[in-house]
Amino acid sequence: MAQTNVPELFGSMVFNQKTMKERLPKETFKALKKTIDGGEPLNIDLANQVAHAMKEWAIEKGATHFTHWFQPLTGITAEKHDSFINPQDDGTVIMTFSGKELVKGEPDASSFPNGGSRDTYEARGYTVWDPTSYPFVKEHTLCIPTAFCSYTGEALDKKTPLLRSMEALNEQALRVLRLFGNKTASHVATTVGPEQEYFIVNEDLYKQRKDLRMTGRTLFGAKPSKGQEMEDQYFAALNPKIVKYMEDLNDTLWKYGVYSKTEHNEVAPAQHEMAPIFTTTNLSTDQNQLTMEVMKKVARRHGLVCLLHEKPFAGLNGSGKHNNWSMSTDEGENLLEPGDTPEKNSQFLLFLTAVIKAVDENQDLLRISVASAGNDHRLGANEAPPAIISMYVGDELLDVLQSIKDGTPMKGRSKSKMTIGVDILPPIPKDSTDRNRTSPFAFTGNKFEFRSVGSSLSIAGPNTALDAIVAYTLKGFADELESAGDFESALSALIKREITAHWKIIFNGNGYDSSWVPEAEKRGLLNLRSTPDAMAHYLDKKNVKLYTEMGVYTEQEMQDHYEIKLEKYCKVLNIEVETMLEMINKDILSSAYKYMDAVAKSALNVKAVVPGAKAASQAALLEKLDCLTASLASKADELCKKHLAAKSAADVMECARAYADSVLPAMSEARAVADEIEPLIGEDYKPFPCYEDLLFRL
Ligand code: ADP
Ligand code: MG
Repeated sequence: MAQTNVPELFGSMVFNQKTMKERLPKETFKALKKTIDGGEPLNIDLANQVAHAMKEWAIEKGATHFTHWFQPLTGITAEKHDSFINPQDDGTVIMTFSGKELVKGEPDASSFPNGGSRDTYEARGYTVWDPTSYPFVKEHTLCIPTAFCSYTGEALDKKTPLLRSMEALNEQALRVLRLFGNKTASHVATTVGPEQEYFIVNEDLYKQRKDLRMTGRTLFGAKPSKGQEMEDQYFAALNPKIVKYMEDLNDTLWKYGVYSKTEHNEVAPAQHEMAPIFTTTNLSTDQNQLTMEVMKKVARRHGLVCLLHEKPFAGLNGSGKHNNWSMSTDEGENLLEPGDTPEKNSQFLLFLTAVIKAVDENQDLLRISVASAGNDHRLGANEAPPAIISMYVGDELLDVLQSIKDGTPMKGRSKSKMTIGVDILPPIPKDSTDRNRTSPFAFTGNKFEFRSVGSSLSIAGPNTALDAIVAYTLKGFADELESAGDFESALSALIKREITAHWKIIFNGNGYDSSWVPEAEKRGLLNLRSTPDAMAHYLDKKNVKLYTEMGVYTEQEMQDHYEIKLEKYCKVLNIEVETMLEMINKDILSSAYKYMDAVAKSALNVKAVVPGAKAASQAALLEKLDCLTASLASKADELCKKHLAAKSAADVMECARAYADSVLPAMSEARAVADEIEPLIGEDYKPFPCYEDLLFRL
């Protein structure tokens, strides 16, 4: 493996621009490039030529099928394979693939979530090729990245709104750039580098855990004698099995053109991270979906299982996905890069102010964009950012913003305050440490890192929200500044006004500190602890106005999402409770009884053999286990009742609330008793592998 020729391997399974250029007639390539860069529609003749070249290439790579690869609202990717075969009169087949098949597909939409806005009999949907994301060959199939819409034009997927939000941001950011005299940039795209955390466990052990198989997380498990307290795992040398896995993972990702760059151990045992090099948000989203799929598949080849759940193990850090985000022009200018001239700095400060205002005014939308049953376990548990959204800007930038807001001199400058358009900024260090790990939204030198995203989530949702709220804010700024008499003074006034108005969202302190919760409350920041708490804000007037005005979601789509997200939350909890009850009854109690039997027999035998023996330790243990098993059985009954009550709730919000407020606490109570039983049971009677096995035995 070490001999891999990476440049040769990289993108070898991708129909990228290099391959397009090699394979397509010059004129066709030119036209396609216009479609890719400028969104111009591709006529059917050209589509036929592209499809033909793509098919020939794909067959050389071993493909026999093609699929429109899309991202329904389930959050995972979907594919339905069709083969290239085309029967001939003489009983043979030829391999064909038409422009029409490339550009548009018609999967049955009825079995994908749609929030009930359409009845199933009219649930026809279609997929359309997204030429800004490259087709690739995976296993024996040519995968064509597509958007998925209903016949009435609603988005049924995560890609469509993401593309719309990127377009909204492009439009508004260009207006702002023009105000700064930039006449040459023709496009602004957001860029994302998502750092993906994951756990790896042994496949044989995994198979013995019903909870891991059914829910992706452990519902039981006493704390092992060693956890992450030694802090000896972070960046530690890799286990040889993990090395082999990572080599295979990298090779596979590189083949698919994923810019896998960094790999290391994470804080918790068995936890790791892969960071790719950033690219445009749309591509990055597709690549992250593919990455998650590949991570799981490659693990199986090595007798391992990759867990992407946000909280596979209680008591250990969960997994997130740090979403590094910025905005760049097609000329390569990063709009969040502090400049080195006064003009560039005022432009930077305006974009920075836009992000600050957008985040403050839309804390709810950002929180909602990362809300899920799994991620609720992480946020606010002092291992990941709190559920309260705030922003970290670092000391240097805080000093600059303070000076603008209050007119006070900056550190090291005795007299003058920071004057926009005149002064240059002090050097802003790029953050290379983890000093601000506790902040949900941190400025790291030339980008923001949105850290609340859960490891299993598609990054489409969070980035759609981010792009939309920043686009909306930039629109307000552009409206105001375009109509201002004197640009310079209007700009200074705007920046000062908005920074002052949104000062409360800036928090450079420790987000894990218990004093932050009341402090945030005093500032008037939202603390939306659970998915139902967050979703209760989704359809607020402000949010509907923002998304519809930016053309990102229609009101109908938002209503659909509201239903789908809460429904999914309830379904996840439903599966978790049922799995939990089954494991209590079939595994935990029954193994405890068997062990108790053995202990009782031992007591009798001892008494029979040793005259006068009391078998006191057996008696004590039996008494303890008798007590705990009775308690567990009654907690299970209680849980079952609450679960049934939640299930019969009148609507999806009430159901979600019942799961969050009544069922989840009952699950914790039952688990606590089961975890007390676990260490008392003899090794041979253990119902399933424990934490120590899962975390330390690869
Ligand atoms: P670290 O935070 O560990 O110092 P980097 O800052 O280099 O590392 O990058 C962390 C992640 O942020 C990587 O995935 C990287 O590609 C991504 N990143 C860097 N610059 C940008 C940018 N302008 N836009 C989006 N993501 C970026
Ligand atoms: Mg990071």
